[in-house]
Amino acid sequence: MESTLYSIRMHATRLDTHLSGAEALVSETELKRAAADLVERALGHSKGKAHSIRISIDDLTDTEVVRGRLPDLVTVPVADYLDGRQAAAKLLRWAGVSNFAITRSMEDLGRGAAPGNKAMRGAMLVDAVSGERLEPDTSRGVRVSRLGLTPATTDALRSALQTLGLDNDHVREALALAGKVLASGQVLAELCWSDDPDYTAGYVAAPGLGYVRFPHLKPLGEDRGGRAFFVPPALRDLTSLIFFLQETPWLADGLGHLHPPIALETLRELLDRRA
Ligand code: AMP
Repeated sequence: MESTLYSIRMHATRLDTHLSGAEALVSETELKRAAADLVERALGHSKGKAHSIRISIDDLTDTEVVRGRLPDLVTVPVADYLDGRQAAAKLLRWAGVSNFAITRSMEDLGRGAAPGNKAMRGAMLVDAVSGERLEPDTSRGVRVSRLGLTPATTDALRSALQTLGLDNDHVREALALAGKVLASGQVLAELCWSDDPDYTAGYVAAPGLGYVRFPHLKPLGEDRGGRAFFVPPALRDLTSLIFFLQETPWLADGLGHLHPPIALETLRELLDRRA
């Protein structure tokens, strides 16, 4: 019989504002170590030491844990963030998102999608055709939570990412998050760039495409960023999608293919050939 899994989540603040958040799904034997790692992370943040750290742990004995594979990953080199956004727009269109929804969402992410032009804590839910915002709370957005990787998957991912020079928290966590979003089966595509001013990379993820990373989706020093999950207009049951993203535990127990960088045109030819 499998040992019980626990969801462990950390949220740290400094000067009463969000500093760091991270989480994992672990067995009882891994729990203490995971807690220590999360505390270390909150205390060692590049923006300074946390003033307050909250750790919550939930036993998942009576909760169904969905398992799945991480998405394939590839980097598409781009010259700068404008080139990156054009390339991202092409892939979003391939995934079925309208021009209007793409432009509107990129504008929202660029200026801060929460009221008062602040960065959101979670993601926007966007109608892929009309571009309409569908998330119930526009300042919090939808927070994808309760996700993690098995220890063997973490080890395999780290060594595969190392060979690509990409083994960092940003990439590992974003890949897992995109994996859970795609596992919902109800999202046509995801667009993300970070609100961390030092981190300019971002990605588009979609079923049949995987996770496509662009080294530049925003200018260096910009502290606005966010995520958009594009859903088909016919999707009426937002509640079950939001419940899956926020509440259903999702554990990655295998890797996708991790490819070396590829030019956008080559990627598009591969996609066209597969269609
Ligand atoms: P990060 O990749 O952590 O820099 O986050 C970039 C943006 O993605 C944040 O500004 C949030 O808008 C959004 N975000 C971060 N974490 C989550 C999450 N767990 N679920 C949904 N959106 C998130």
